[in-house]
Amino acid sequence: MVQMPKAEETILEINLSALKHNFEYIKSKINNSTKLMVVVKAFGYGSDASIIANYLQKLNADYFAVAYTNEGIALRNSGITKPILVLHPQPVNFTALIQHSLEPSLYNAMVLNEFIKISLEKTQVDYPVHIKFNTGLNRLGFWENDVDYIISKLAETSSIKVKSIFSHLVASEDLNEKEFTLNQIEAFKNITKNFAQKIAYKPMVHICNTSGILNHPEAHFDMVRCGIGLYGYGNSEKENQNFKPIATLKSVISQIHLIEEGETVGYNRAYKSSAFQKTATIPIGHADGIGRQYGNGKGFVTINGQLAPIIGNVCMDMIMINITNLDCNEGDEVIIFGEQNTAEDLAKTTKSISYEIITAISQRIKRTIIK
Ligand SMILES: *Cc1c(COP(=O)(O)O)cnc(C)c1O
Repeated sequence: MVQMPKAEETILEINLSALKHNFEYIKSKINNSTKLMVVVKAFGYGSDASIIANYLQKLNADYFAVAYTNEGIALRNSGITKPILVLHPQPVNFTALIQHSLEPSLYNAMVLNEFIKISLEKTQVDYPVHIKFNTGLNRLGFWENDVDYIISKLAETSSIKVKSIFSHLVASEDLNEKEFTLNQIEAFKNITKNFAQKIAYKPMVHICNTSGILNHPEAHFDMVRCGIGLYGYGNSEKENQNFKPIATLKSVISQIHLIEEGETVGYNRAYKSSAFQKTATIPIGHADGIGRQYGNGKGFVTINGQLAPIIGNVCMDMIMINITNLDCNEGDEVIIFGEQNTAEDLAKTTKSISYEIITAISQRIKRTIIK
């Protein structure tokens, strides 16, 4: 492993060779003919959307996905020329979406009709759109019995063309829900078959997210959508071994205190010392994405390879940790999460998941890139 310079302030270190490793691992799980859509919503899962997306474009990712139109516009402005699917566009942004050649997911009659209206106004022909079906998540999507309605709308206009039909799995990482997932895949197959029979061209078909890719090779269809895997998490102990977390959240010890038995630490005196103890103050807080739920002994950080619990309440800009038995000094580097103590390990201390903690890291924290 490359030896990185020690952090001198709070930074999120992003390792592009880990990203490449994860990309290639996912590629090894799919056929050459299956396209790979890389999901870079929420600032590239809390890392840096522009840097991640440009690197993935160089690695020849086929397709990009974001949640919202403004995220797609930011990608266009940062040099992404590959197609970009906007998973959850709002009609208010349809004009901007078309101006930036972004491709909308159309998930109900309201957005379908609104998009047709705007694309006609903008004199579009065959504008690429993606039709989303609900197969059990009950979040966004047409129902299977909407197919005839969609087909009738498509027949009335040449302004749009369906580039893909897709759905989203509810519990692809949970093998206890395998039967539910298989039923979703079956329902989706029936929808796509019905759709295909009623349309003169062949849209792409896709349903798998990261865990779908890993657990359901039979459902890769024409394309898969990979998010969390690219960032280094496989949603299981076994699969985590095959990925490398791309982000390391580092900080430093700002100050060390020696406190007597009975003294308290932090707001509202939430921590009370039971003996003579040593504490350290770290410049990262709930405004940076380390929520209050990580306080009071739940979360922990690592210093020189040794674990130290967060004590008392998490402040907006700082946490305090117990370093009583640790060998460390002011200015020493602190790892909040990284390759060893991962974001998933930290998230588990509060019954959260890797997705939540990595996407919560605030924009205030400086990003540094390692090639
Ligand atoms: C976020 C998202 C994904 C990516 O899921 P991962 O589990 O991170 O791979 C795929 N599809 C849709 C519709 C999403 O919203």
